[in-house]
Amino acid sequence: MIPLSEPTLQGREWEYVKECLDTNWVSYLGPFVTRFEKAVAKVVGAKEAVATSSGTAALHTALLVKGIQPNDEVLVSDLTFIAPANAIRYVGAWPVFIDADPAYWQMDPALVASFLKNQCRMAHGMVINKKTKRRVKALMPVHILGHPCDMDALMTLARRYKLSVIEDASEALGALYHGSPVGSMGHIGCLSFNGNKTITTGGGGMLVTSDRKTSHYAKYLTTQAKEAGDEYIHRQIGYNYRLTNLQAALGCAQIERLKFYLNKKRALAARYDEGLRTIPGIHTMPEAPWAKSSFWLYTLLVNPQRFGMTSRDLHKRLLKKGIETRSLWQPLHRSPAHRGAMVVGGSVADDLWRNALSLPSTVNLTEKEQQFVIRSIRSLARRL
Ligand SMILES: *Cc1c(COP(=O)(O)O)cnc(C)c1O
Repeated sequence: MIPLSEPTLQGREWEYVKECLDTNWVSYLGPFVTRFEKAVAKVVGAKEAVATSSGTAALHTALLVKGIQPNDEVLVSDLTFIAPANAIRYVGAWPVFIDADPAYWQMDPALVASFLKNQCRMAHGMVINKKTKRRVKALMPVHILGHPCDMDALMTLARRYKLSVIEDASEALGALYHGSPVGSMGHIGCLSFNGNKTITTGGGGMLVTSDRKTSHYAKYLTTQAKEAGDEYIHRQIGYNYRLTNLQAALGCAQIERLKFYLNKKRALAARYDEGLRTIPGIHTMPEAPWAKSSFWLYTLLVNPQRFGMTSRDLHKRLLKKGIETRSLWQPLHRSPAHRGAMVVGGSVADDLWRNALSLPSTVNLTEKEQQFVIRSIRSLARRL
């Protein structure tokens, strides 16, 4: 079976994990956590980083740090893995789902602008959603599949309406927007290191920021809000959201190889583009001229009329050949888990959901395997 995406552990993972075992530093204390935080902060171009037990924990912490409260609203991508929307509900706030832009599939800034202008009003310097009467407090753009959102447009709106910006860069570590790393353009960036992300710690995440107060508060909240000192004093409710030294050891070894991974992913994407672009009814994955995608999961679109079958049928046929592929996430405005939340647009996300298929994107995918994937898709196309 050619897998969709699996970790590549061929650096110094074994050595660093052994070091944890040999020195007895397996839990929350130990040198690898700080070292991993520093390494990630450097890649993202942020001054500060706080490691967390998952990407979802980082998102939850970011919302708490930014003071998002029950009945506030947060504008979030409609087409994304569900974690950011769930995190919004953890703090009792409500997501407002923003449709994708058809060109690059990311949160559409034009829809954010029209929502803020036409569907909200200003009152005492606050942005109020006219329909729900709730206060809009933050933007949470999700850089899906490794491609950046149009951050200049979103940051301009955030400044105009005084909104916090929390970037979900879980799928886009190493991606660039006009040359700037994603995760460092908003007020807080969040990352995930679960098993299928660009680098993995088994499970884990990180919150990055260039604001010291933000990182200190985040660290405090993720360590049960324990006050400094020997006594166990807590002034508010905290969380056990720390990453262990063992996990961070994996992370340190993984991030040493990030450049290599990113180059590999870009090479995979270029080869898919080359091999697939002449197949009728197949649209290759877009990349904006202002973007350098990390191509986390290479994803194509199937036009069922022209190609001769739907993306779901193509998925099944490829599975029979031993090739694992995957659909995109159900748009969140359709998710039973988020019934009742508002959506702005939604038809682009619906189309992408219907037609997209992610292809094997493992760093270690061989050229031979990749050619087999390309040949298999070509062989299934309608003969004209
Ligand atoms: C993977 C992912 C997360 C969260 O990941 P965890 O599994 O909690 O580490 C959050 N947002 C997006 C967009 C993701 O793809």
